Amino acid sequence: MGLFGRNREPATVTIRPSGRSFPATGKDSLLNEALAAGIPFPHSCTVGTCGTCKSKLVSGKVREITDAAITLSSEELADRYILPCQSLARGAVELHVADLVDMPDHPLVHTSAVLSGTRALTHDILEVVVRVDEPFAYTAGQYAELRVPGISGPRSYSFARGAADRAKDELVFYIRRTPGGEFTEWLFAEDRSGTALEVAGPFGNLWLRPSGAPALCVAGGSGLAPIKAILEAAADEGAQRETIVVFGARTARDLYCVEEIEAAAAAMAGSCRFVPVLSEEDPGSDWSGARGLVTDVVAALPADVLSACEVYACGPPPMVDALEAQLGALRADGVFHADRFLDKKTQRRS
Ligand SMILES: Cc1cc2nc3c(=O)[nH]c(=O)nc-3n(C[C@H](O)[C@H](O)[C@H](O)COP(=O)(O)OP(=O)(O)OC[C@H]3O[C@@H](n4cnc5c(N)ncnc54)[C@H](O)[C@@H]3O)c2cc1C
Repeated sequence: MGLFGRNREPATVTIRPSGRSFPATGKDSLLNEALAAGIPFPHSCTVGTCGTCKSKLVSGKVREITDAAITLSSEELADRYILPCQSLARGAVELHVADLVDMPDHPLVHTSAVLSGTRALTHDILEVVVRVDEPFAYTAGQYAELRVPGISGPRSYSFARGAADRAKDELVFYIRRTPGGEFTEWLFAEDRSGTALEVAGPFGNLWLRPSGAPALCVAGGSGLAPIKAILEAAADEGAQRETIVVFGARTARDLYCVEEIEAAAAAMAGSCRFVPVLSEEDPGSDWSGARGLVTDVVAALPADVLSACEVYACGPPPMVDALEAQLGALRADGVFHADRFLDKKTQRRS
């Protein structure tokens, strides 16, 4: 008996061509139900904006949580493509997903939690510490969804810690204030310590693949959180590879965690170069480091590093897009993993 039958047993979602399947209750998104069943389903933003989970509905029915037309083209919609992160199963479903992905093997956890404290990292970025009721495993580079009562829908935030000895019930995030943003304006308005919230995760496919290739890690603004976690984990694991970390900020007052990044870089088994770069620093200031955009630093890297490196990028969508276009022009099929910090304003990207 399928979903919504008399006994309300879960229906089955079958993935073609792999033949893997998972139970769907129709109470959570197809993506979340797949991840909860340990299926390595491709995804990135989980909010219906990036299109990474796009799949063809071969048979069955789904109910959309948000309108897929924002992200999918009219041809894709006519061809029965859906966004599993924004679709609930309505009975048995068959999906075509060309490639299941290589993903860290962590169960998807939904847990209650408490916002246990905050600390200002810059004038507009807070370190936010959340204590979860259920232990929480993730791989450095991944992210969680936080849901606060009274705020519409969950918000995604990347884990900022990667060291193996981190407390399993404590999650740390770096959250930037988005002017006019519902969650972050609430967060920055006053001390929110003690607030009860819900956390789900881990999500995301930005994590350091084991490889001997040089790693080029590029972060902008609060995008430093997952890159810092990745470096801490790599230092812990004794990764031998050459690593270059580029951190773009507007001015010197927007830099943070520089000492932590330098410490992780020094602890790496392979060579690690850290380049903070400022795009809007006063020309007369005493800043002696790099100036310009992250793409200017990348353009100056040796050609042999650029052609061989794996790229891990995180931050504002325009920065990640510019980097991807720059590197795409330099090399046809290099490895490029990224999380774009999409929000309601940036989700309608052309
Ligand atoms: C995978 C992922 C990881 C992320 N990790 C981080 C992280 O580690 N740190 C971090 O700081 N951020 C991160 N983000 C971004 C984060 O999830 C939020 O989007 C961000 O904090 C803004 O949330 P908000 O509720 O304050 O803003 P929202 O309420 O979502 O609003 C965002 C902006 O859109 C505008 N807006 C709202 N509604 C509309 C509308 N209908 N039309 C046009 N504009 C509108 C608002 O005025 C505001 O300027 C991540 C995002 C993704 C997808």
